[in-house]
Amino acid sequence: MKNLIPADDLLSNNKVECAIDEVTEINRSEHIIATGNGTMFKYGKLILATGSNPVVPPIPGIEKKNIFAIKKDVAYLQDLIGKLDKVNDLCIVECGFIGVEIAEECRRRRPELNISIVEMLSHCLQLVYDEEFCMNAEKVLKEQNINLLLDEKVDAFLGGDTVEKVRLSSGKEIKADMLIIGIGTAANIGLAEKADLEIGPTKGIQVNRYMQTSDNDIFACGDCAEKVSFFYGKPSNLKMASISTMEARIAGANLFSIRRVNMGVIGVYSTVLGGNAFAAAGLTSSQAIAKGYSVITGESEAVNRHPGCMPGGANLKVRLVFEAGTGIILGGQITGATSAGELINAVSACINKRMTADDIATFQTGTHPALTASPISYQLVNAAENAIGSIYIYIYIYIGETEKYYI
Ligand SMILES: Cc1cc2nc3c(=O)[nH]c(=O)nc-3n(C[C@H](O)[C@H](O)[C@H](O)COP(=O)(O)OP(=O)(O)OC[C@H]3O[C@@H](n4cnc5c(N)ncnc54)[C@H](O)[C@@H]3O)c2cc1C
Repeated sequence: MKNLIPADDLLSNNKVECAIDEVTEINRSEHIIATGNGTMFKYGKLILATGSNPVVPPIPGIEKKNIFAIKKDVAYLQDLIGKLDKVNDLCIVECGFIGVEIAEECRRRRPELNISIVEMLSHCLQLVYDEEFCMNAEKVLKEQNINLLLDEKVDAFLGGDTVEKVRLSSGKEIKADMLIIGIGTAANIGLAEKADLEIGPTKGIQVNRYMQTSDNDIFACGDCAEKVSFFYGKPSNLKMASISTMEARIAGANLFSIRRVNMGVIGVYSTVLGGNAFAAAGLTSSQAIAKGYSVITGESEAVNRHPGCMPGGANLKVRLVFEAGTGIILGGQITGATSAGELINAVSACINKRMTADDIATFQTGTHPALTASPISYQLVNAAENAIGSIYIYIYIYIGETEKYYI
């Protein structure tokens, strides 16, 4: 079997001993963990990073054959791929990042396969993009002959032993001899519960800002740990590798003395559909408005080379969302050239540092004809600059109304 991301050398080169075994028990008073093979390990400090498992919804018929969740289990996924090669009608449940990526991979593998995606929201990728960006992604999927069933919920899986059809909330029935469900993951907290550690409101292992659990000698990080939003400090369901690695660096640094603080999760996404990158960080306009923010946005679109006829030139569009009163950035969305995957990380850094539209419009950007847009059309800076106009309009209207009120 191919090890696609080998980490063993990285660990041994850094003098980290690795035991392949399952931890079955934590004895907190003795500071000992026990494994399935019967080995005991003494610990001074312990970090739990037990990850998450896919959510399998209790929909009638879920027990039928050929219904898969996305488990991080190579044998299970190989079985899924084997079955995929034999079916005619694939249905994917959810049209978020996982759903759209699976649909595109399956289309690449089986150009003739009928593929449908069922999504209960009005648009695909709606949890991370504003409408216009979602519609661009939908266009790319439709061009690949992927059938989108939006505003629909799965009511039941129909058939004999093996699934044959899906019944939707509208009453419509669609043919499906294979289902892939990607509706989210639940923190793997069994071990922590057994050890009587506190569990948080979204059913993750409760941690403080230093990644300590309710036991000061036990830390937790990654998908298994409870999260709070960077923006409003309330519990968050986000579970991502970007968050897990950030939390791991904080937990590791804080083991013996507190050095780093977790300021909450932002949510940074990127994917490629039909050769176009779709990337996002933080809040969309609609999410921010729903949370009570007044928002203004700025957009900028340009070729990512100068002149645009340089090799590798492709369009790149940036949309930034700011809190109207302070001008502090809340989120960003980028689509087009694959450099979006790197640029969105710059947007995430801006969010993390609570930069304002003025800060972003005036920061110094390195440019090169073969690598970036020109200095005068650099999309990140220009999107901020374009938003600034709206900020002043917003302040003007606000003052205008206040004056009217006092008159
Ligand atoms: C299809 C898919 C695509 C994704 N794409 C992205 C993406 O593009 N970008 C992104 O940021 N995130 C992505 N994610 C999310 C990302 O994979 C997770 O957030 C990340 O893997 C979490 O890392 P983790 O180390 O916390 O947990 P995991 O990666 O789940 O690792 C947990 C590990 O702990 C082990 N373990 C559990 N219990 C025990 C025990 N008792 N004893 C010993 N070992 C144990 C497990 O076997 C596992 O190896 C994706 C997820 C899926 C399913």
